[in-house]
Amino acid sequence: MTTPTTTAEAAEGSDTSGLPAWRECRHWDGAQGQYCKQVDGVRQYVTGDRCPTHTPNALQGRPEVPPGPGWPVHREAA
Ligand SMILES: [Zn+2]
Repeated sequence: MTTPTTTAEAAEGSDTSGLPAWRECRHWDGAQGQYCKQVDGVRQYVTGDRCPTHTPNALQGRPEVPPGPGWPVHREAA
């Protein structure tokens, strides 16, 4: 699978981070033939920026890990 190039990144020349100034969901919606592009509640994951609907956990039907500092409570028992 090849990585699609976007013109949005090239348009913002002042951003040296290589990422757009905004975040949008990068989940590929095959049925729609386009990216999700949801911008509300988007967070960065290992697989890229994802809206709450398309996080790695959500796509696998698992509960979302709540954001915040520190480790999840269950880690303390280890
Ligand atoms: Zn999405």
